Amino acid sequence: MRSEADGVLAVAGGRIVFRGSWPEFARSAAGDTATVIVGDHPRFLLPGFVDTHAHYPQVFSTDAYAGRPGPGTGTGTGERSDGTSGTGERSDGTSGTGQLLDWLQRCIFPAEARLADPDFASAAAAAFCSRRVAAGTTTALVFGSAFPAAQDALFAESVRVGLRTVSGRGVQTVGPAAAAPLITDIDTAIRLCRNEIDRWHGAGDDLVRAAVVPRFALSLAPSDMKSLAGLYGEVRDRGVYFHTHLSENDNGADGEVAATCAAYGIRRYLDAYDGFLGRRSVFAHAVHCHDDELARLAATGSSIAHCPTSQFFLGSGTMPWRSTVASGVTVALGTDVGAGDEWLLSRVAGDCFKAHMSEPGAASIALGPARLLELCTLAGARALDLDDVIGNFDVGKEADVLIVEPHRWPGFAGVLAQAPDSAEALLFSLLLGMREPAIADVLVRGVSVTGPSGATP
Ligand SMILES: [Zn+2]
Repeated sequence: MRSEADGVLAVAGGRIVFRGSWPEFARSAAGDTATVIVGDHPRFLLPGFVDTHAHYPQVFSTDAYAGRPGPGTGTGTGERSDGTSGTGERSDGTSGTGQLLDWLQRCIFPAEARLADPDFASAAAAAFCSRRVAAGTTTALVFGSAFPAAQDALFAESVRVGLRTVSGRGVQTVGPAAAAPLITDIDTAIRLCRNEIDRWHGAGDDLVRAAVVPRFALSLAPSDMKSLAGLYGEVRDRGVYFHTHLSENDNGADGEVAATCAAYGIRRYLDAYDGFLGRRSVFAHAVHCHDDELARLAATGSSIAHCPTSQFFLGSGTMPWRSTVASGVTVALGTDVGAGDEWLLSRVAGDCFKAHMSEPGAASIALGPARLLELCTLAGARALDLDDVIGNFDVGKEADVLIVEPHRWPGFAGVLAQAPDSAEALLFSLLLGMREPAIADVLVRGVSVTGPSGATP
């Protein structure tokens, strides 16, 4: 970690040309041609945040409640008419835990089906990019919609605003009745993926990249997954990404992990994704992975999008920090909006700190401020194979910058003023105490994305 108490960041042609102190800057030649980022108020400059897992079709689905049975069903988790709580099969066939598979069926599949309406999809795309700007998420790996017009709306809005976006349509070839509007046969899915890649990969002067995105193993028949891997094999050399979920929820014999292994006839969940591992392959969650799966992820250069806020919400457990990181796999952070209900990645980092502080016994760890900042920035860049382009303020990198003004969030400036006298302690309070209103401006390649042509923060 490097901190400049009275620092200068100078940008020319969208790249960082100087980073250091004012006296150094005055002696350098960088000031001749560069734009200097400075302001009237005390402010902090941070690298733009990199969210490695967020669901665009769930932009309006944060804080959706799946735990309570519908009126008159009389069973399920939650308060019943007799005032007790219980679990069991409900009249709609869901299990009643309120966890992942219930939440998908009851809340998410119906919400995602609404993006079939192009007008609704345009509003969703605008809202999604706007929320990202407000949260300083300059780069995101985005789980896409099943509907081509909705994906066009997302990519077009991202280019208009000037954000970095990697995304691909969510592929689903099998599923429950609630998912029917999102399902296509595999030939249609591959045709639509190919078309999306051809049209959008590299768009917006390369701010936009395409990905192949099966929702998760259970949303494709094993033979369909194999066909999709064939497509990925054709396009991966073009820099196309792969993104999906892995071992998220394991609530017993009918949970996601057991159901996946049974459906695919495999020993390990990760085996369902044969043909997809490698650089630019990012797996969300990895809560219940075995050591041999983690070793395989690490050996192939694949990455994990760790989503602690979402894992709290769905009762998925916690990705074990020490054993996961010990495998050598790259771990970055994801909001997992909408199971995650925080858009601001530093809030997710705060949940990450709390989750791993709360792991039992010797597994407990107090993650340091520099590590938390890295999780919000450079680790995400590394997961997206962009760490030579973004992720910190190294000279030569593209200037993705958050400008934080503490006075904009009531009480925040006072908290920071009382932080212990060290850069690390200040950074810790800055990251965990920050809220969206404190973000005064957001730059991508040195250009504000909050201005008149950008989104409204
Ligand atoms: Zn997710």
